[in-house]
Amino acid sequence: MCESELVSFVETLGEPAYRGRQVFAALQHRRLTNFDDITDLPQAFRNKLNEVATASTLTVASRFISEDGTRRYLMKTHDSFPVETVFIPEERRDTICFSSQSGCPLQCTFCLTAQLGLLRSLTAAEIVEQIVIALNDAYGVGTKTPRGTNLVGMGAGEPFLNFDELMKALRVMASPEGLHIVPNRVTISTAGIVPRIRDLAAFEDRPHLAISLAAPTDELRNELMPINKKWPLEELLAACRDFERTLKPNERFTFEYVMLDGINDSEEHARQLANLLNRHQLKAKVNLIPHNPAEPLPYYPSTEETVARFRSILESKGIHTYVRRPRGRDIFAACGQLAAREGTTISSLESTSVGA
Ligand code: SAH
Repeated sequence: MCESELVSFVETLGEPAYRGRQVFAALQHRRLTNFDDITDLPQAFRNKLNEVATASTLTVASRFISEDGTRRYLMKTHDSFPVETVFIPEERRDTICFSSQSGCPLQCTFCLTAQLGLLRSLTAAEIVEQIVIALNDAYGVGTKTPRGTNLVGMGAGEPFLNFDELMKALRVMASPEGLHIVPNRVTISTAGIVPRIRDLAAFEDRPHLAISLAAPTDELRNELMPINKKWPLEELLAACRDFERTLKPNERFTFEYVMLDGINDSEEHARQLANLLNRHQLKAKVNLIPHNPAEPLPYYPSTEETVARFRSILESKGIHTYVRRPRGRDIFAACGQLAAREGTTISSLESTSVGA
């Protein structure tokens, strides 16, 4: 609930408005996860809250810690659907990668999450709660986030197929009385739900946008990302172009391109991609993501040399290109590896329950 909803809620319980603001701050700013811990509330009110509401609904089923420090949480909703969240420690600023859906309805052939199908969309509360759980585990309950934390909506699911709950979650998290994670610290990635790209453009306070491309032609993209049949490249890039026109000075806009050995990583593909973006006069940066192992999917990451060549072709045509360093591959926490796995087959694994 956002603060005003919580205020109305406590009023229906016969409590004054300030109690609602107090509960919101306790759950969001102090990140407490049950009413009994809000010891500055009268006992009778805590009892009443316990009778009619729950402060948290997700439980952590397992926690995996990568050799690079990345943590993957496998959580369960109250109705037993998996939710995965990844905490990525970084030198300057940590990043939390959150999920917008349990499973995913899109059928991108290179992504493991697709194998789950859509289980269900997450509520705004569940989107926020997974982030609260990751923050508490990383920094401790109630402590300030040390260097500010970035959020990326790049976990399981297609965020733009859960647009209203996503935007509500971002509003709640932005509250200065709550987590105070403002949209400027959030990046949402979409496989290309064109109408929602246009909707996002109309928001004043909006997160950064990233678009998953994976192919420079409709023929190949139809194969790798079937959503392309609904919104082909011309429509997608026209929406991107319109979005780019509304960018504010500090706004980031990126294209993600997963690099699949022998599939989409030739010099010809690089030239086609550069021409496509230039023809649409797009200045957005390109993030190359070497494919993360996702057995049993029939793909392999492009070699380092291939990625470097691909990058230099894009750069030579004026396109700023970065190569994303994979994180947490050993615990199935990297892009495209979230498939609610209880373990891993790749390397050693530390699994502990939170608080243990
Ligand atoms: N559905 C959204 C959010 C998921 S983001 C979207 O498609 O953008 C996940 C990012 O990881 C996407 O850019 C996707 O292309 C990429 N990805 C998926 N599977 C991958 C894999 N196995 N290795 C590397 N990147 C992958």
